[in-house]
Amino acid sequence: MQPLVELDHVNKHYGELHVLNDIDITIPKGQVVVVIGPSGSGKSTFCRAINRLETIDSGEIRIDGTPLPKEGKELAQLRADVGMVFQSFNLFSHKSILENVTLGPIKVRGKKRKEAEEQAMTLLDRVGIGNQAHKMPAQLSGGQQQRVAIARSLAMEPKLMLFDEPTSALDPEMITEVLDVMVELAHGGMTMVVVTHEMGFARKAAERVLFMADGKVMEDSTPEEFFSNPKTPRAKDFLSKIL
Ligand code: ADP
Ligand code: MG
Repeated sequence: MQPLVELDHVNKHYGELHVLNDIDITIPKGQVVVVIGPSGSGKSTFCRAINRLETIDSGEIRIDGTPLPKEGKELAQLRADVGMVFQSFNLFSHKSILENVTLGPIKVRGKKRKEAEEQAMTLLDRVGIGNQAHKMPAQLSGGQQQRVAIARSLAMEPKLMLFDEPTSALDPEMITEVLDVMVELAHGGMTMVVVTHEMGFARKAAERVLFMADGKVMEDSTPEEFFSNPKTPRAKDFLSKIL
Protein backbone atom coordinates (compact mmCIF):
# COMPACT_ATOMS: atom_id res chain seq x y z
CA MET A 1 0.00 0.00 0.00
CA GLN A 2 1.20 3.45 -0.92
CA PRO A 3 1.95 5.59 2.14
CA LEU A 4 0.31 9.03 2.16
CA VAL A 5 1.45 10.25 5.58
CA GLU A 6 4.70 9.17 7.21
CA LEU A 7 5.84 10.25 10.65
CA ASP A 8 9.41 9.16 11.11
CA HIS A 9 10.52 9.21 14.77
CA VAL A 10 8.83 12.54 15.41
CA ASN A 11 9.57 14.37 18.67
CA LYS A 12 8.31 17.62 20.05
CA HIS A 13 8.69 19.29 23.45
CA TYR A 14 7.00 22.20 25.15
CA GLY A 15 9.72 23.03 27.65
CA GLU A 16 9.99 19.97 29.88
CA LEU A 17 6.89 18.36 28.38
CA HIS A 18 7.59 15.67 25.76
CA VAL A 19 4.34 16.21 23.86
CA LEU A 20 5.19 13.97 20.87
CA ASN A 21 7.43 11.11 21.93
CA ASP A 22 9.05 9.21 19.08
CA ILE A 23 5.92 8.94 16.94
CA ASP A 24 6.63 6.51 14.12
CA ILE A 25 3.51 5.95 12.04
CA THR A 26 2.69 5.36 8.38
CA ILE A 27 -0.81 6.00 7.05
CA PRO A 28 -1.57 4.48 3.65
CA LYS A 29 -3.74 6.25 1.08
CA GLY A 30 -7.43 5.79 1.82
CA GLN A 31 -7.02 4.71 5.42
CA VAL A 32 -9.30 6.12 8.12
CA VAL A 33 -7.51 6.46 11.44
CA VAL A 34 -9.16 7.37 14.73
CA VAL A 35 -6.89 8.93 17.36
CA ILE A 36 -8.11 8.53 20.88
CA GLY A 37 -6.67 9.19 24.31
CA PRO A 38 -6.93 11.26 27.47
CA SER A 39 -6.93 15.03 27.42
CA GLY A 40 -3.40 16.41 27.16
CA SER A 41 -1.99 13.25 25.55
CA GLY A 42 -0.84 15.11 22.41
CA LYS A 43 -3.66 14.33 19.96
CA SER A 44 -4.14 17.91 18.77
CA THR A 45 -0.40 18.48 18.54
CA PHE A 46 -0.13 15.30 16.43
CA CYS A 47 -2.75 16.64 13.99
CA ARG A 48 -1.35 20.15 13.94
CA ALA A 49 2.15 18.85 13.25
CA ILE A 50 0.87 17.02 10.15
CA ASN A 51 -0.16 20.27 8.44
CA ARG A 52 2.64 22.22 10.07
CA LEU A 53 0.55 24.39 12.31
CA GLU A 54 3.18 23.19 14.81
CA THR A 55 6.88 22.62 14.19
CA ILE A 56 8.66 19.48 15.42
CA ASP A 57 12.02 19.18 17.19
CA SER A 58 13.32 16.06 15.46
CA GLY A 59 12.29 13.35 13.05
CA GLU A 60 10.52 13.93 9.78
CA ILE A 61 6.95 14.13 8.49
CA ARG A 62 6.30 13.36 4.82
CA ILE A 63 3.11 13.69 2.79
CA ASP A 64 3.12 11.71 -0.43
CA GLY A 65 6.85 11.16 0.03
CA THR A 66 7.69 14.87 0.35
CA PRO A 67 8.96 16.33 3.66
CA LEU A 68 6.72 19.10 5.00
CA PRO A 69 7.73 22.47 3.59
CA LYS A 70 8.75 25.17 6.06
CA GLU A 71 7.33 28.26 4.41
CA GLY A 72 6.19 30.11 1.33
CA LYS A 73 4.19 28.81 -1.60
CA GLU A 74 4.96 25.20 -0.75
CA LEU A 75 3.49 25.62 2.72
CA ALA A 76 0.31 27.19 1.31
CA GLN A 77 0.08 24.25 -1.10
CA LEU A 78 0.48 21.79 1.78
CA ARG A 79 -2.28 23.50 3.78
CA ALA A 80 -4.53 23.19 0.73
CA ASP A 81 -3.67 19.50 0.33
CA VAL A 82 -4.29 18.74 4.00
CA GLY A 83 -7.76 19.84 5.09
CA MET A 84 -8.39 20.43 8.77
CA VAL A 85 -11.65 20.66 10.67
CA PHE A 86 -11.50 21.82 14.28
CA GLN A 87 -13.81 21.73 17.25
CA SER A 88 -14.80 25.35 16.59
CA PHE A 89 -16.09 25.84 13.08
CA ASN A 90 -13.98 28.89 12.19
CA LEU A 91 -16.16 30.07 9.32
CA PHE A 92 -15.67 33.63 8.09
CA SER A 93 -18.57 35.26 9.91
CA HIS A 94 -19.00 38.20 7.54
CA LYS A 95 -19.15 36.02 4.41
CA SER A 96 -22.02 33.91 3.13
CA ILE A 97 -21.90 30.12 3.28
CA LEU A 98 -21.25 30.00 -0.46
CA GLU A 99 -18.40 32.54 -0.19
CA ASN A 100 -16.90 30.58 2.68
CA VAL A 101 -16.66 27.55 0.42
CA THR A 102 -15.50 29.32 -2.77
CA LEU A 103 -12.86 31.62 -1.26
CA GLY A 104 -10.03 29.07 -0.98
CA PRO A 105 -10.52 27.48 -4.40
CA ILE A 106 -10.55 30.93 -6.05
CA LYS A 107 -7.64 32.44 -4.07
CA VAL A 108 -5.38 29.41 -3.56
CA ARG A 109 -6.31 27.02 -6.36
CA GLY A 110 -6.92 29.76 -8.93
CA LYS A 111 -10.39 28.53 -9.92
CA LYS A 112 -12.82 30.68 -11.89
CA ARG A 113 -15.70 31.96 -9.73
CA LYS A 114 -18.38 30.16 -11.73
CA GLU A 115 -16.58 26.85 -11.55
CA ALA A 116 -15.87 27.34 -7.82
CA GLU A 117 -19.55 28.12 -7.17
CA GLU A 118 -20.75 25.05 -9.06
CA GLN A 119 -18.36 22.85 -7.14
CA ALA A 120 -19.36 24.53 -3.84
CA MET A 121 -23.04 23.87 -4.53
CA THR A 122 -22.32 20.21 -5.24
CA LEU A 123 -20.42 19.93 -1.97
CA LEU A 124 -23.03 21.85 0.02
CA ASP A 125 -25.72 19.54 -1.37
CA ARG A 126 -23.60 16.58 -0.37
CA VAL A 127 -23.45 17.78 3.26
CA GLY A 128 -27.15 18.69 3.21
CA ILE A 129 -26.78 22.51 3.22
CA GLY A 130 -27.48 23.28 -0.46
CA ASN A 131 -30.60 25.29 0.35
CA GLN A 132 -28.73 27.51 2.87
CA ALA A 133 -25.91 28.63 0.58
CA HIS A 134 -26.83 32.32 0.68
CA LYS A 135 -27.23 32.57 4.43
CA MET A 136 -24.60 33.91 6.83
CA PRO A 137 -22.87 31.48 9.23
CA ALA A 138 -24.65 32.89 12.32
CA GLN A 139 -28.01 31.90 10.79
CA LEU A 140 -27.02 28.22 10.83
CA SER A 141 -26.96 25.76 13.72
CA GLY A 142 -23.65 24.46 15.04
CA GLY A 143 -24.10 21.16 13.23
CA GLN A 144 -24.84 22.94 9.97
CA GLN A 145 -21.82 25.23 10.39
CA GLN A 146 -19.57 22.25 11.00
CA ARG A 147 -20.87 20.60 7.82
CA VAL A 148 -20.07 23.82 5.94
CA ALA A 149 -16.56 23.71 7.43
CA ILE A 150 -16.19 20.18 6.05
CA ALA A 151 -17.46 21.26 2.61
CA ARG A 152 -15.06 24.20 2.68
CA SER A 153 -12.11 21.88 3.30
CA LEU A 154 -13.27 19.45 0.61
CA ALA A 155 -13.52 22.29 -1.91
CA MET A 156 -9.71 22.44 -1.88
CA GLU A 157 -9.67 18.83 -3.09
CA PRO A 158 -7.37 17.72 -0.25
CA LYS A 159 -5.37 14.50 -0.23
CA LEU A 160 -5.96 14.12 3.46
CA MET A 161 -8.49 15.36 5.99
CA LEU A 162 -7.66 15.97 9.64
CA PHE A 163 -10.51 16.26 12.13
CA ASP A 164 -9.76 17.41 15.67
CA GLU A 165 -12.76 16.64 17.90
CA PRO A 166 -15.17 17.94 15.26
CA THR A 167 -18.30 17.14 17.26
CA SER A 168 -17.25 17.97 20.80
CA ALA A 169 -18.62 21.53 20.72
CA LEU A 170 -22.00 20.42 19.32
CA ASP A 171 -25.30 19.83 21.04
CA PRO A 172 -26.01 16.09 21.16
CA GLU A 173 -28.78 16.19 18.56
CA MET A 174 -26.38 17.66 16.00
CA ILE A 175 -23.56 15.20 16.43
CA THR A 176 -25.06 12.49 14.22
CA GLU A 177 -25.59 14.78 11.23
CA VAL A 178 -21.89 15.69 11.27
CA LEU A 179 -20.71 12.13 11.87
CA ASP A 180 -22.91 10.88 9.00
CA VAL A 181 -21.11 13.24 6.62
CA MET A 182 -17.76 11.98 7.92
CA VAL A 183 -18.78 8.33 7.57
CA GLU A 184 -19.81 8.98 3.97
CA LEU A 185 -16.48 10.66 3.30
CA ALA A 186 -14.65 7.71 4.84
CA HIS A 187 -16.58 5.21 2.74
CA GLY A 188 -15.83 7.34 -0.33
CA GLY A 189 -12.13 6.63 0.05
CA MET A 190 -10.80 9.81 1.69
CA THR A 191 -7.69 9.41 3.82
CA MET A 192 -8.69 10.68 7.26
CA VAL A 193 -7.15 11.23 10.68
CA VAL A 194 -9.94 11.79 13.18
CA VAL A 195 -9.47 12.72 16.82
CA THR A 196 -12.74 11.71 18.42
CA HIS A 197 -14.22 9.85 21.32
CA GLU A 198 -17.25 8.85 19.25
CA MET A 199 -17.01 5.07 19.37
CA GLY A 200 -19.84 4.75 16.85
CA PHE A 201 -17.77 6.56 14.25
CA ALA A 202 -14.69 4.48 15.04
CA ARG A 203 -16.62 1.23 14.66
CA LYS A 204 -18.47 2.27 11.51
CA ALA A 205 -15.75 4.02 9.60
CA ALA A 206 -12.26 3.48 10.98
CA GLU A 207 -9.84 0.75 10.02
CA ARG A 208 -7.35 1.74 12.65
CA VAL A 209 -7.29 3.18 16.15
CA LEU A 210 -4.25 4.90 17.63
CA PHE A 211 -4.40 5.23 21.39
CA MET A 212 -2.21 8.08 22.65
CA ALA A 213 -1.06 8.78 26.19
CA ASP A 214 1.78 11.00 27.40
CA GLY A 215 2.79 11.89 23.85
CA LYS A 216 3.23 8.27 22.80
CA VAL A 217 1.21 6.00 20.56
CA MET A 218 0.60 3.25 23.11
CA GLU A 219 -1.69 1.06 20.95
CA ASP A 220 -2.10 0.76 17.20
CA SER A 221 -4.89 -1.66 16.33
CA THR A 222 -8.26 -2.19 14.70
CA PRO A 223 -11.35 -0.72 16.41
CA GLU A 224 -12.68 -4.24 17.19
CA GLU A 225 -9.41 -5.21 18.81
CA PHE A 226 -8.98 -1.95 20.68
CA PHE A 227 -12.46 -1.71 22.15
CA SER A 228 -12.81 -5.39 23.05
CA ASN A 229 -9.25 -6.15 24.04
CA PRO A 230 -7.13 -3.11 24.93
CA LYS A 231 -3.65 -4.23 25.85
CA THR A 232 -2.14 -1.52 28.02
CA PRO A 233 -3.35 -0.55 31.50
CA ARG A 234 -3.59 3.08 30.30
CA ALA A 235 -6.02 2.13 27.53
CA LYS A 236 -8.04 -0.12 29.83
CA ASP A 237 -8.32 2.68 32.36
CA PHE A 238 -9.25 5.22 29.68
CA LEU A 239 -11.94 2.98 28.16
CA SER A 240 -13.44 2.20 31.56
CA LYS A 241 -14.00 5.95 32.00
CA ILE A 242 -15.60 6.71 28.64
CA LEU A 243 -17.63 3.59 27.83
P1 ADP B 1 -4.82 16.69 23.46
O1 ADP B 1 -5.29 17.22 22.15
O2 ADP B 1 -4.57 15.21 23.47
O3 ADP B 1 -5.71 17.08 24.60
P2 ADP B 1 -2.65 18.57 23.09
O4 ADP B 1 -1.89 18.13 21.92
O5 ADP B 1 -3.57 19.72 22.92
O6 ADP B 1 -3.39 17.34 23.76
O7 ADP B 1 -1.65 18.99 24.26
C1 ADP B 1 -0.70 18.09 24.79
C2 ADP B 1 0.02 18.77 25.92
O8 ADP B 1 0.79 19.87 25.43
C3 ADP B 1 -0.90 19.32 27.00
O9 ADP B 1 -0.31 19.10 28.26
C4 ADP B 1 -0.93 20.81 26.69
O10 ADP B 1 -1.14 21.55 27.86
C5 ADP B 1 0.45 21.05 26.12
N1 ADP B 1 0.46 22.14 25.14
C6 ADP B 1 -0.29 22.21 24.01
N2 ADP B 1 -0.02 23.32 23.30
C7 ADP B 1 0.93 23.99 24.01
C8 ADP B 1 1.65 25.22 23.81
N3 ADP B 1 1.44 25.97 22.73
N4 ADP B 1 2.55 25.57 24.75
C9 ADP B 1 2.78 24.81 25.84
N5 ADP B 1 2.15 23.64 26.10
C10 ADP B 1 1.24 23.24 25.20
MG1 MG C 1 -6.99 18.26 21.64
